[in-house]
Amino acid sequence: DRSEAEALLGGLNPVQAEAARTTEGPVMIIAGPGSGKTRTLTHRIAYLLASKQAWPSQILALTFTNKAAREMRSRVVDLVGDEAKGMWIGTFHSIFARVLRREADHIGFSRDFTIYDSDDTERLIKELMTRYGIDPKRVTPRSVRSAISSAKNAMVGPDEYARLAGDPFTEAASKLYTPYAAALRKANAMDFDDLLGWPIRLFEQHPDILKEYQRRWRFLHIDEYQDTNRTQYVLAKLLAADHHNLCVVGDDAQSIYAFRGADIQNILSFQKDYPGAKEIRLEQNYRSTQRIVRLADAVIKGNAKQLDKTLWTDNDEGDPIVLMEALSERDEAQKVERTIRDIRSRTGISWSDVAVLYRTNAQSRSIEEALRRGGIPYRMVGGTSFYQRKEIKDALAYLRLAVNPTDEASLLRVINTPTRGVGAKTIDQLRDYATEHRVALWQAVQDPGGAGLSARASKAVEGFGFLVSRFASKAGTAPADELAREFIQETGLLQDLRDQNTPEALARLENVHELLNAVAEFAGGDPTGEPRTLSEFLQEVSLVADVDRLSDDENRVTLMTLHASKGLEFKVVFVTGLEEGLFPLAKAAQDATELEEERRLLYVGVTRAEEALFLTYARSRYRYGDQQSSVRSRFLDELDGEDLLRTESGGKFESRRGRFQTSDGGFGDYGKMDPNYWKQSLRPDDGKTRPRTKTVEAARGERTIVYDEGEAQIVPGVQVHHKSFGNGKVISIEGAGERAAATVNFKSVGMKKLKLAFARLQVV
Ligand code: ATP
Ligand code: MG
Repeated sequence: DRSEAEALLGGLNPVQAEAARTTEGPVMIIAGPGSGKTRTLTHRIAYLLASKQAWPSQILALTFTNKAAREMRSRVVDLVGDEAKGMWIGTFHSIFARVLRREADHIGFSRDFTIYDSDDTERLIKELMTRYGIDPKRVTPRSVRSAISSAKNAMVGPDEYARLAGDPFTEAASKLYTPYAAALRKANAMDFDDLLGWPIRLFEQHPDILKEYQRRWRFLHIDEYQDTNRTQYVLAKLLAADHHNLCVVGDDAQSIYAFRGADIQNILSFQKDYPGAKEIRLEQNYRSTQRIVRLADAVIKGNAKQLDKTLWTDNDEGDPIVLMEALSERDEAQKVERTIRDIRSRTGISWSDVAVLYRTNAQSRSIEEALRRGGIPYRMVGGTSFYQRKEIKDALAYLRLAVNPTDEASLLRVINTPTRGVGAKTIDQLRDYATEHRVALWQAVQDPGGAGLSARASKAVEGFGFLVSRFASKAGTAPADELAREFIQETGLLQDLRDQNTPEALARLENVHELLNAVAEFAGGDPTGEPRTLSEFLQEVSLVADVDRLSDDENRVTLMTLHASKGLEFKVVFVTGLEEGLFPLAKAAQDATELEEERRLLYVGVTRAEEALFLTYARSRYRYGDQQSSVRSRFLDELDGEDLLRTESGGKFESRRGRFQTSDGGFGDYGKMDPNYWKQSLRPDDGKTRPRTKTVEAARGERTIVYDEGEAQIVPGVQVHHKSFGNGKVISIEGAGERAAATVNFKSVGMKKLKLAFARLQVV
């Protein structure tokens, strides 16, 4: 066994192998991107199994996404065989949701509890706000949700929160914290934060249960440790308290979730928390070209402090990294599209080797459009995903009710969907009844007479109650797919969509069918072929983040936020929208700590690339309902030009260390930049008439948009005036639309190529 196990480590370099071989006691691998941290974890688990130091069920590995978990599981199975399948590999949320289902009765929940997403919790909070007389216009439900969530993540309970509350907002939030928790409990529901908070309370109140899990999981592993929050940290600590067999891997320079409560301190104080911890550093990057590694290094140097790390690679020098300037977000998207097509025809890579990353979800729209127009298959991670669509949420709410009828958010969502004559007044009456009798809303639904409803309303509510209870009684026994199909059929959702008979309604109908297919597929069995229940399906749907739905077998370009790209790798990567106010975000530019987090985010983005990396920015972007001029990101101007970056035409990139160029050609200092600079509209309301655009046939017969004053047109041969260069003669015009550019021979400076959208040439 030993030699077989040793052979497994042949896939690792000596330092990685040492980390894998150190199976007893606390171990921390702290190393840069692409250095094989995740790979080392995987091999370590395989080694533990092959050397018979652990049974699969004694292994716990916590990853950041379900996708990462699946990958890790299948790699281990590849290494040591099918018997490894009983390992506990998953995200914190999914592993502890499983624990909670087993132990639910110890904390006063039933094992079929519902998991509320942010949408459900926001609804619930909004409800409570009306009940507690808090004006949702003054304090938004969303901000209350996020305040309570932060408190939960920091393990601050309602009482302590109330004590800390010092301003009108936190006071309002604090008023809602206790009722919110009570409402969740009454609905037999948990929010995401509860999936980590409840296990801690469970373990603290029941030391015997904690003991059991400490004995069960002999070897703990955590990937991306730098992004763990307080509750995750405490859970790890509780579970490792006895045997200390905890192996964490991470990179402080890639910590990008502080805004969600991740605490970099967890990594920085590992030695203190786990005395005698073995610290291992990996220095060789196996992922990226030398140029990419050097650029990443130059990016992160902008941050004041980080753990000392060296990163080098044996890989090729690689192609220069290309910086692309675009005129607008549309132009940027087209450049991305053309470049992808170009690379593919030159090198034969697959679409799935390419990722386009952006800072905010809104940026995906223009990129999607360009790819669609160009016929490039893509998949988008995030945004309005399948499971966020209204019709899907409606159908899911019904299914959740079948499993847990006390789920209030779901009940409210569908009690009148499709319309069945249950109005707002009726719902209020039901709610009053429930509050008065201290029962769940579901109980009120079952006693409409007692709630004092009119005969008509009573009948409608009764019908709904009967429908739900009929299927709820089957939920424990009927096969998931059958139950789902029949139930959804009888809710009238499908008929309602069919009756609407609009293209949108039919598309929605399709979606609901797709959902039912998903249930059927899921019910078919887990990796070991065991049939699965509706309750398990719903849990999977609640916990699977969008990035997890990336299936690797589809050959498509991936579009996603920089945050979602963590831990992944692609041959070709585009990091788009490198503009002030966007990346870094405007609010981050004002705050040194947030600015550093943005820089780490860029670091994460560029280090996803294996072979080719493109950075792009646009001189103008449609934001806040207006086309606005933009300044390229300070992160670009912080780079030392060297030979890292090239412009599109192959020219050298000129860094303007610390300074930026304004759209009128001047220079400014990022530090002193007007924080609203980037908000300047290209069409200020200054009363001046702006150049109107007009499409003309340019000399070469190409359709070109030219910017003209009055009737004068900029075409080859005419004399024009430019604010800085003076007078000159238009020699040629090329490109169309926003890309249109004129080559002008100026008396002062000679030939210049100018983008018409910005040059504001006037015909003289
Ligand atoms: P990140 O910080 O981005 O999560 P990481 O440190 O987890 O990166 P991995 O994803 O484990 O890095 O590894 C990066 C790539 O390098 C993977 O494709 C991996 O298979 C490869 N790799 C790592 N170590 C070795 C090795 N010793 N031999 C060959 N390939 C390796
Ligand atoms: Mg990794």
